[in-house]
Amino acid sequence: MFSFKWFKKKSPWILHYNAGSCNGCDIEILACLSPKYDLERFGVINCGNPKQADIFLVTGPVTYRSRERLIQLYTQIPEPKVVIAVGSCACTGGIFRSMYNVEDGIDRYIPVDVYTPGCASSPELIMDAVIQAVDIFEHKNQQLQSAKKLYRQPVFEQGRFCVSNVAKSLKDKDE
Ligand code: SF4
Repeated sequence: MFSFKWFKKKSPWILHYNAGSCNGCDIEILACLSPKYDLERFGVINCGNPKQADIFLVTGPVTYRSRERLIQLYTQIPEPKVVIAVGSCACTGGIFRSMYNVEDGIDRYIPVDVYTPGCASSPELIMDAVIQAVDIFEHKNQQLQSAKKLYRQPVFEQGRFCVSNVAKSLKDKDE
């Protein structure tokens, strides 16, 4: 279990989704993965499958056409997961806010853990956000593990209590 947690922390997998951006922020994400910034040195891998992702990186405002896909992708990522809104558009709707085909920032539909402002967001900010996201991921993972322990304990105790009660009532009948 220790090694699994360690690998998860040292190798977060990222799913990138463009919910309706102008591609400016997407280019900055690609710059992070280029040799100049080399985000992969932190073990980050850009994957294409939501079921393998730990961090959900979203750019652009939510458009009418992308909102269902956004929610679908979010629900397919297993717990624990961390969401980063990259760029002003993903944070608040940015320059596209209140347009006829746009529905503000992504936090209207899915919970956001880290906001990265800027139009476009700089690679340094995006990298900083990913490092913060790894810490949040670790914290959420610990919470999830302790919640699982809490859930198991009463069931076990209740089981023991029931057994002893049945045994007691049977004993009373015999007497
Ligand atoms: S924040 Fe700026 S660069 Fe990024 S998607 Fe919006 S308009 Fe484009």
